Amino acid sequence: MSLNAYITEDEIEGSEDGPLAGKTVAVKDNISTAGVRTTCGSKMLEEYVPPYDATVVERLKEAGATIPGKTNMDEFGMGTTTETSYFGATKNPVDEDYVPGGSSGGSAAAVAAGDADLALGTDTGGSIRCPAAFCGVVGIKPTYGLVSRYGLVAYANSLEQIGPIAPTVEDAAALLDVVAGPDENDGTTREEGADTDFANAADGDVDGLTIGVPTELVEGAEDAVVETFDATIDDLREQGATIEEVSLPSAEYAVAAYYVIAMSEASSNLARFDGVRYGNSGGYEGNWNESFSDARSEGFGDEVKRRILLGTYALSAGYHDKYYKQAQEARAWVKQDFDEAFEDVDVLASPTMPILPPELGESLDDPLKMYLADANTTPVNLANLPAISVPAGEADGLPIGLQLVGPAFGEETIINAAAAVEN
Ligand code: GLN
Repeated sequence: MSLNAYITEDEIEGSEDGPLAGKTVAVKDNISTAGVRTTCGSKMLEEYVPPYDATVVERLKEAGATIPGKTNMDEFGMGTTTETSYFGATKNPVDEDYVPGGSSGGSAAAVAAGDADLALGTDTGGSIRCPAAFCGVVGIKPTYGLVSRYGLVAYANSLEQIGPIAPTVEDAAALLDVVAGPDENDGTTREEGADTDFANAADGDVDGLTIGVPTELVEGAEDAVVETFDATIDDLREQGATIEEVSLPSAEYAVAAYYVIAMSEASSNLARFDGVRYGNSGGYEGNWNESFSDARSEGFGDEVKRRILLGTYALSAGYHDKYYKQAQEARAWVKQDFDEAFEDVDVLASPTMPILPPELGESLDDPLKMYLADANTTPVNLANLPAISVPAGEADGLPIGLQLVGPAFGEETIINAAAAVEN
């Protein structure tokens, strides 16, 4: 496929009827599918075929969906452009010279191009919302605990959730209805939200709703993004919403805290890829240290290696207090800022991404610049809150997304407000 949205095209049939009968749902390649390889976009897992389905895949099948294949992604979810994939970059279907965003770039590109009706992505620090924004589709990062992570290959467990990507708010909500709800195989799932009819919430009635705009999440964005954002906010005001400026003073520390925590968790999670328990086994020779190091040197790409090294450093004796502990303190502060904001407003609105999609090939040399592009999405993961990205307009022919954040298990409120943006 010319967009390179799929790593593996292999049809998985669901049951004959159910709410998703007749629909195709593409699945990100870090979500386990029994009998179909699950690579995480890595050479390390090029030939790994899971023996079981993730809970979300089981639920898709029961709901009658057909899975057309496994979608391309940044290696182990580490990236914002889908360019760190071992299987090559995915192109943005809106303009093929640009990245689709990441790390769930294949899922968003497949939906935007009509190669799948719907898709599942995962979001650790923005990986559903960023590609949804860059490809002009809708993406929901659910409250931590709403959707089971059983069968998701972990990058940073305390931050990530599986969630839907779809052409419309209502379609995304309907897919959330299918995958949400407690799972005995994932002890972090909760009862809350299990019986909610999310699709029914997408009615776009914002009359009487109070929308907070955190100044810190607008200031740093490119002019074209701010213009589109302001116009959309004006429109919501005309539809009856009350708009209030709010402040999230901790926001400036979110990216730093996020990357310390995400890399620390990754360094521990990715230790299992040693060529023996998991991962490419090249028949390495020599002692354990040598074969471990050969398997990992050959199996992982540069960005993954960078993060394992930095994460291991942040957790090491002597540096733990300076980095990991401080990051956890910043995380608590971010949570508290959101709690205070939600005492006054129902939802928070900001640009999803402060930038327009970069051109293909532009980002890999400057990882720090791409980390900073996660300024508006990472605070939400640190606070374990729900958020949606909905198309709000375009500049230079490139899509711009608006992010709505809600209190924990406030999915209905953000789905409703996003439908108003869509109208
Ligand atoms: N861009 C962020 C990162 O590289 C988010 C990735 C994600 O959500 N998986 O970590």
